[in-house]
Amino acid sequence: MEIKRNATRPVSIGDIIVGDFNPIAVQSMTATKTQDIDATVAQAEAYRGAGAGVVRIAVDSPKDAAALAEIRSQTKANLAVDLQENFRLAEAVAPYVDKIRYNPGHLYHHQRSKPWQDKVRFIIDQALEHDCAIRIGVNCGSVDPDKKERYDPSDSITPMLESALEHCDFVDSLGFTRYVVSLKDSDPQKVIEVNTKFAERRPDVPLHLGVTEAGMPPEGVIKTRIAFEQLIGRGIGDTVRVSLTLPNDRKPEEIDAGRQIVDDIYAGRVRTVVKLNDKALNIISCPSCSRVENEAFIDLAQQVKQMTEYAKDYDITIAVMGCRVNGPGETDDADLGLWCGPAKVNLKRGPEPLGAFGYDEILPRLQKELDALITVKTAK
Ligand code: SF4
Repeated sequence: MEIKRNATRPVSIGDIIVGDFNPIAVQSMTATKTQDIDATVAQAEAYRGAGAGVVRIAVDSPKDAAALAEIRSQTKANLAVDLQENFRLAEAVAPYVDKIRYNPGHLYHHQRSKPWQDKVRFIIDQALEHDCAIRIGVNCGSVDPDKKERYDPSDSITPMLESALEHCDFVDSLGFTRYVVSLKDSDPQKVIEVNTKFAERRPDVPLHLGVTEAGMPPEGVIKTRIAFEQLIGRGIGDTVRVSLTLPNDRKPEEIDAGRQIVDDIYAGRVRTVVKLNDKALNIISCPSCSRVENEAFIDLAQQVKQMTEYAKDYDITIAVMGCRVNGPGETDDADLGLWCGPAKVNLKRGPEPLGAFGYDEILPRLQKELDALITVKTAK
């Protein structure tokens, strides 16, 4: 298939360049505890061995940042770091990474203490000083509330788009152009829509594509393929990640899946006939990362998938998330949401919390809620 790529600008990340017609780089993120240096180095190397162009690591504390310095010395992978609200950690991590990802929605927190512009300026200064690229990573579950308030609640696309464009303009105004943008949602159709709109407005900015919380294979791969086929087929996308809920020893399958999808698209082996049935049960689950609060999360996601099999023909979304950082926000749009704490699993019906339950109690409790939901849907 002849694909006419968008003429995005080049962004160097360690020893690769994304954008500017370079091969589409496949990325992943470590799911080991960042402070477990041996495990994190082993996983970063496994990703690199599988062909990862960039490996992202979560850093949430000075101890994580100290571990990162050691990890850097033990792997040749191009490293990216994922910052949450604690933007000041950029100073501690920038010397050891090739790219810093920040989420505009997270910089909004504690806005009164410091405007987001000051925080971005701080991150960009660190990137400049330490030769790092930047990713402005907008995520459906943590969009800048100021943007969300301005638009109809049924429109989740425009707030994401406007947030990304605003940050691009601001970073441009600082004279910094070494950045990529991502706009991720768990719904592949929304990923297609928001990235297409962004590419129309900013065709020069390289895009990192991904369907967030795509879930477990094979459904997670299919959801991602639906989005990538549409976008990459139209020349949109310079780097990709396939986010899959997998145990640590299988995480490099994310790289294999990403490479396979990109290769298939370029070879014309597109499968647009593979569509998810939008009237069917949809399980979304995060790919896990260093922030997972209980290792039982991966098994729980699998058990939820098995236990809910009987509801497969109902238009119901169940979200299973690994931690309190993104779990509470990213379960809001699901009919039923679970987010995992150290000893308890928090259950929600839409945005409404239903309580926290032990790992051995949660499945029957979830089933009770699911049955109630099916009863309501059947009565309609
Ligand atoms: Fe990591 Fe938490 Fe996101 Fe899961 S929900 S990928 S554990 S930050």
